[in-house]
Amino acid sequence: MTNQAVRTRMAPSPTGEMHVGGLAMLLKNYAWAKKNGGQFVLRIEDTDKEREVEGAIEEIMQVIRDYGLDWDEGPDKGGPFEPYIQSARLATYQEHAQQLVEQDKAYYCFCSKERLEKLREEQRANHQPPKYDQHCRNLSAEKVEAKLAAGDNHVIRLKVPHDYTVTFTDLLRGEISINTSEIDDQVLVKSDGFPTYHLAVVVDDHLMEISHILRGEEWISSAPKHVLLYEAFGWDKPVFAHMPIFLNPDGKGKMSKRKGTVSARSFLERGYLPAAMLNFFMILGWAKEDQEEVMTLDEYIEAFDPADMSPKSVAFDLQKLDWLNGVYIRQLTQDELEKQVKQFLPADFPQEKLSEILPLVSERLVTLADIEELTSFFYREIEIDNDLLLARGNRELVAEQLAATSAALEKLTAWDLAGIEKTLRELQEQHDWHKGQYFMMIRIAVTGRKATPPLFETMTVLGQETTLQRLAQAAKMS
Ligand code: GLU
Repeated sequence: MTNQAVRTRMAPSPTGEMHVGGLAMLLKNYAWAKKNGGQFVLRIEDTDKEREVEGAIEEIMQVIRDYGLDWDEGPDKGGPFEPYIQSARLATYQEHAQQLVEQDKAYYCFCSKERLEKLREEQRANHQPPKYDQHCRNLSAEKVEAKLAAGDNHVIRLKVPHDYTVTFTDLLRGEISINTSEIDDQVLVKSDGFPTYHLAVVVDDHLMEISHILRGEEWISSAPKHVLLYEAFGWDKPVFAHMPIFLNPDGKGKMSKRKGTVSARSFLERGYLPAAMLNFFMILGWAKEDQEEVMTLDEYIEAFDPADMSPKSVAFDLQKLDWLNGVYIRQLTQDELEKQVKQFLPADFPQEKLSEILPLVSERLVTLADIEELTSFFYREIEIDNDLLLARGNRELVAEQLAATSAALEKLTAWDLAGIEKTLRELQEQHDWHKGQYFMMIRIAVTGRKATPPLFETMTVLGQETTLQRLAQAAKMS
C-alpha cells in the first residue's frame, strides 16, 4: 500500500437511522483521510432491498452533516468512481462475479431453498455449524449450461480453496489466520441478481481505490471472506482496522436499543451539541498516552492514528458525555447559546425574556433540553411545598417575614437588582433574622424550589408583580 493515496470510506446500509457507533466510525475514517491529505468517500450499500427503509439514505446524509462532517465523494456529490450507491452498480458486480466463474473461482449453485433448509436441519441435529455442502461445486459444464438455459433459479458462490490458510493483518490485532475449512462457499450473487454484501463491498473498495478500511469489530469475521475475494481477483488488499464497538453505558453487552437510545440523531434531539458528541467519539477507546480529553476536530485530525486504538470495546460513558457537553455549552457565547437553545424552548417560554433568563441557568445546563426544567418557574404557576417553606422557621416567623418582605418590595418604585438586594438585606439585618433561613424561605416562596439561580437576579427577572403575587400565595399557605 506504499505510495498510495489514503482513501477511506463509510458504507452505511439504509436499513434505518444511523447508530452513534456508525458516526463514531465515520469520524475516524474522515479524520484519517484528512490527516493524510486523502479523500473520504460515502457509499450507500443498498443491496438488501427487503431491509431498506424509505427515506433512510437522505436521513443518513443529513445526520452526518448535522454533526458537522461531510464527505469528498458520495451519492449526491459524485466523484471519479461514481455512482456511489450500490443499487446503481449492479452490472459491475455481475461482471466481476462472471469473471470469477470463467476463471473457475466461482460457480453456479442451483440448490433449492428446501434442500438448503434440510441440510441446515441435519447439521443442527448433528451439532455441526451451518455450511453449504458444495453440492453444485463440481457440476459439469453441460449440466450448468442446460440448467441456465432452462431458466433454473441459481446463485453464484465463491469456490473457496480447500484446506488453505487465509491470512491478513488487522492494524489493532496483528496477523490473523484462519483455515478455509471454517469458511463457507459464500454466495456472491443472489438469485435476484443482486450481489451479497461480501462481493459488493470488495469490488467497490477495490474499484474506488480505498486504502484503509476502518470499521466496527462486528465485521472482523467477514474479513477472511473478503480477503479470499481479493485473492481470487488478484487484487492488493487494503489495510484493515476493526475498531472497538460501544457497549451499553453500564458496560454490559453491545450498545443496543433495549437499553436506551442509540441513533445518532436522538442525541442531537436530546440536546447534546454535535461538537461535544464528536469530541466524545474521539476519546472513547483511544489508548494514546497523555491524551487531552477536550480537543477540536483539527487537533484530533492532527493526532489520530488508527493504530493507537485499543481493540477493547468501550462503555458508552454517559457521565463523561454529559461532562463534555457541559464543557462545550460553556464555551459558547451568549449569542450562540441563544441560537442553539431556541429549538428546545417550550411553547410557553417567554421569548422576549430569553436573553435575561439564559445567563442565569446556562451554568447548570447539562444538555440543551434541560432548559425547560431549569426555567419553568419563571413562566409557569409554581407549587410551594409548605414543609419546605417552614423548614427552618415557624409559622408565625414565616408569616411575619413574608408580610414584611411584601410590604418593603411593594414600595420599590424601580425594580432592579440593586434595589431588591438592598431592601431584603436591610430587612434581614433590621430583624436579625437567620440569614440562611430567611433567604431560603424567600427563594422557596418565589420559585417553589430549593435550587435556583441567584435569588436577587431571579426576582429581578420575575418582575415586581409576579414576585409579589408569589409572596402572597406563600403567605396564604404558611
Ligand atoms: N454496509 C455495511 C454496514 O452497514 C458496511 C460494513 C463495512 O464497513 O464493510 O455497516
